Amino acid sequence: MQLLRGTKDILPDEIQFWQHIYDLANDTFLLSNYNEIRTPILEQTNLFKRSIGNDTDIVNKEMYNFLDQSNRCITLRPEGTASIARAFISNKLYTTNNIHRLWYMGPMFRYERPQKGRQRQFHQLGIECIGSLSYIADVEVIRLAIKILETCQLSRYKLEINSIGSSEERQIYKYELIDYLIKYKKDLDEDSKKRLEINPLRILDSKNIKTQEILDEAPKLISYIQSESLNHFNKICEHLTYLSIPYKINEKLVRGLDYYNYTAFEIKTDILGNQDTICGGGRYDTLIEYLGGPKTPAVGWAIGIERLLMITTKIININKNISKVYIIIQGLKAEQKVWDIIKILEEYKISFNLDLNQSNLKKQMRKASQSSAKICCILGENEINYNYITIKWLKTSKQQKISLDTLKQYLYDIKNLIIT
Ligand code: ATP
Ligand code: MG
Repeated sequence: MQLLRGTKDILPDEIQFWQHIYDLANDTFLLSNYNEIRTPILEQTNLFKRSIGNDTDIVNKEMYNFLDQSNRCITLRPEGTASIARAFISNKLYTTNNIHRLWYMGPMFRYERPQKGRQRQFHQLGIECIGSLSYIADVEVIRLAIKILETCQLSRYKLEINSIGSSEERQIYKYELIDYLIKYKKDLDEDSKKRLEINPLRILDSKNIKTQEILDEAPKLISYIQSESLNHFNKICEHLTYLSIPYKINEKLVRGLDYYNYTAFEIKTDILGNQDTICGGGRYDTLIEYLGGPKTPAVGWAIGIERLLMITTKIININKNISKVYIIIQGLKAEQKVWDIIKILEEYKISFNLDLNQSNLKKQMRKASQSSAKICCILGENEINYNYITIKWLKTSKQQKISLDTLKQYLYDIKNLIIT
């Protein structure tokens, strides 16, 4: 059987890195009062159509949609924010507090062309700060993204930030942009020609050089943004400067999702090659109301964990889990008695590896020596008959006979020697 294209197994060797990211996220976010939330992977297709927007790449081309047994339209979530907005409304979280700080980590699904740093099932770590219009919330959220990256020892990153204004401001700009670009339609790249009708703002981040030349003379979004949006943006920039977080204003950064307003940002790194964006986020003040909740402003981001790990697994040094005790059993009686020994090892939290090969003693002893355990416990017929266990110290080959009646005390006494 083949693995589905664009999906990956995460093997035991890699899991420790995932666990590391989870633990460090949990520690970092709890300090700032962000609490974990887990929403279902399945949602109604409409949730994403409405929130991300019908004319976006995600909804148009990338969603995993299917009909369930009752002909409901279901989608494997392509991102986290829409689900969290939905959960905020479904669970009436707005009745308890006026600010909700949430974080999540989990799989997302997008039908894209798989390549380095781009999978069909991938994972995101993200946060949402729900309930505040203040630019301080934007700064808090951006600062936490930087903090996570720095804790992962990523130093070569670039924060790009822009204000995309309110949807009214963008609407006016959109028509001005179309008016301008329509004159050059034949010179635009194919993608941009299509976007001219459906999502003209996305043309701004076209990678085509000719399109970019045309855009040089195009009206600028920033000129259509009024003082309120502008003030919000300038304040964030002031705070970033104060925090010594380097940033670049990218006037062409609009991001692919409909629900953003005011702040849009991305964090890139030159280490990753083509898939260089590691984090994307922004403010979404109308989404929750639009989905049927009360008017609630919010801001958040998501980091791609696979991309983060491509950088950090080289740096993070994690100890491998090596069993400290190797257990050999021979004979039917030993097979039962071994459970008593295992209970003691568990009580003292000493990790062990029970030999399941049922091969002869010599072979099992060889396995024990290869295993990097500290000691080997041998429970054979002789041991059972005379009520003892043989302990072999694998480094020195020293052997001891320990009565089963005193084994518990013995293991307690040597515990620290074998755990370290
Ligand atoms: P890209 O431009 O690379 O397609 P995006 O703008 O679609 O990214 P977002 O929706 O902002 O991405 O998601 C936030 C982050 O999730 C990205 O910066 C990236 O690190 C990660 N990500 C998005 N899509 C994928 C994917 N298909 N495979 C792996 N990681 C992904
Ligand atoms: Mg994408």
